[in-house]
Amino acid sequence: MLKISKRLEMIAGQVPSGSRMADIGSDHALLPTFLALQGKITKAVAGEVNPGPFQAAAKQVKEAQLQDRIEVRLGDGLAVISPDEVDVITIAGMGGALIASILEAGKAKLSGVGTLVLQPNVGESIVRSWLIDNDWILTGEQILEEDHKIYEILTAVPKAQTELDNEMIYRRRELVEHVALDRELLLKLGPYFIDRPDEVWFRKWSLELDKLDKIRRQMAMSDLDEAKRKRQELEEEMRQIREVLACLQKDRR
Ligand code: SAM
Repeated sequence: MLKISKRLEMIAGQVPSGSRMADIGSDHALLPTFLALQGKITKAVAGEVNPGPFQAAAKQVKEAQLQDRIEVRLGDGLAVISPDEVDVITIAGMGGALIASILEAGKAKLSGVGTLVLQPNVGESIVRSWLIDNDWILTGEQILEEDHKIYEILTAVPKAQTELDNEMIYRRRELVEHVALDRELLLKLGPYFIDRPDEVWFRKWSLELDKLDKIRRQMAMSDLDEAKRKRQELEEEMRQIREVLACLQKDRR
């Protein structure tokens, strides 16, 4: 059996059995190869925009003798698939802004797609916003740590396929008096993580706060009004995140 990372294994776990999938930005095509070897997918398109990774994907598929089930295609984003060709699209290991732009540019290809499994390395809130704006419903969030990096995996289905709705998922929550989570904060922190925060999620946000504090200290060295304004906004953002973390941590004890 092919050995893949814990991250890719977790993404694979979100792909429904019997799917026809497209893995966009497939690089070495490890994800579709793993799923095909497991017998979990009936067909896959491994899409790559860059010739190097495209060749690596083709080599991988050939070595695994899966050419009858995995087609490696060279092209930008969803341009490599036709409408109604696949049931599941996975896009992993890129920034959230790039994932959202690939989905936006390829909207016409999403017809017939029943599941999106997205793993942004950064900018998760951009992906959550894109899903809301385009009538996709987030059905699950997972988080894992591997090789000192923390990854989030977001799974979504079209609005027509679920009873869930975004108003409910992103409803304002009052944690305790005067500590509320509005939509902006939920987009950032994750609406499911908030309801069931785990160790890795707390570690992620503690590390994020360290990063934000570094930026805040750099801004504090400038006397410019603009820098001062941005620093105040950042301080408010950090205050809100700290407050939420403190409340949720208290609940766990
Ligand atoms: N998906 C794999 C994973 O998660 O391990 C590989 C991630 S790799 C860091 C990102 C890949 O996305 C690169 O191979 C890159 O060439 C590809 N890529 C970036 N932009 C793309 C686009 N617009 N369309 C298709 N592939 C793209």
